[in-house]
Amino acid sequence: MTAQLIDGIALSAQLRADVARRTAALKARGITPGLAVVLVGDDPASAVYVRNKVKACHDAGLHSVFEKYEATLSEADLLSRIAALNTDPAIHGILVQMPLPKHIDPNKVIAAIDTRKDVDGYSVLSAGELMANMPGFRPCTPYGCMKLIESTGLNLRGKHAVVIGRSNTVGKPMALLLLQANATVSICHSATPDLGYHTRQADVVVVAVGRRNTLTADMVKPGAVVIDVGMNRNDEGKLCGDVDFVGIKEVASYITPVPGGVGPMTITMLLVNTLESAERATGA
Ligand code: NAP
Repeated sequence: MTAQLIDGIALSAQLRADVARRTAALKARGITPGLAVVLVGDDPASAVYVRNKVKACHDAGLHSVFEKYEATLSEADLLSRIAALNTDPAIHGILVQMPLPKHIDPNKVIAAIDTRKDVDGYSVLSAGELMANMPGFRPCTPYGCMKLIESTGLNLRGKHAVVIGRSNTVGKPMALLLLQANATVSICHSATPDLGYHTRQADVVVVAVGRRNTLTADMVKPGAVVIDVGMNRNDEGKLCGDVDFVGIKEVASYITPVPGGVGPMTITMLLVNTLESAERATGA
């Protein structure tokens, strides 16, 4: 079997066109969805992520505000900026780029964001809403993975899904979203003794570890759907994921490439969350 590629770039383009259409409809009523992106310090990777997010907003017609601060910004000053954004009616989503400088507690900062504007879905309240099946913002990367799985046409009801990785931002919310879609879910992590034992039973495997070749072809059930969240560099310095793409594409039915799979979906779901925040705020 040669797996079909799940094209995250094409799916993103489709979803972003829908965001642009709904944004235009809101604008016609005098409301422009707005995202505030806050960056503290000079981490070069963070600067690239932030630039891409701001550009994606502009391309889809959303309003965006980029606030950049020196690494020496105090925690109190950052919290007071967030308090101001919380009450700014032009802002429907607030994203504070991680990591923050060491003297700033990221949990305090995330908790300070109004839940109605927590478009990253990282707050404890948003996590609780997901856990309780309540409406709220889903973290963008796992939300995007769900859209990628959906695009294959697979009905997750009764399927066995294995998630490798249990971070608060990817692995855990991913497992909850799969559970909500009626999959039977296993979560593996660094203390799982035999990953292959679990993944060989899986109809869907989502890998979010941050280590090359975590999943190899012998660990995949023929016909499985494989979603690769990982972002690593190979020996030639090229971007690669957590799975052995070349081997697994001969076994799986569908697979996401890296780059061009999960990556573009993360920013797309941020736009979707920001738009939906504006729609909710206006009762649309
Ligand atoms: P993380 O917080 O470092 O979590 C990694 C998880 O992998 C942990 O739960 C860890 O287990 C588990 N793990 C580590 N080694 C393992 C092993 N040998 N076998 C099984 N599990 C193992 O990372 P993250 O933030 O979730 O991100 C994971 C990867 O996705 C990274 O490469 C990151 O760059 C990428 N990512 C991509 C996007 C995107 O938009 N494409 C977005 C977010 C993240 P323990 O809990 O036991 O330590």
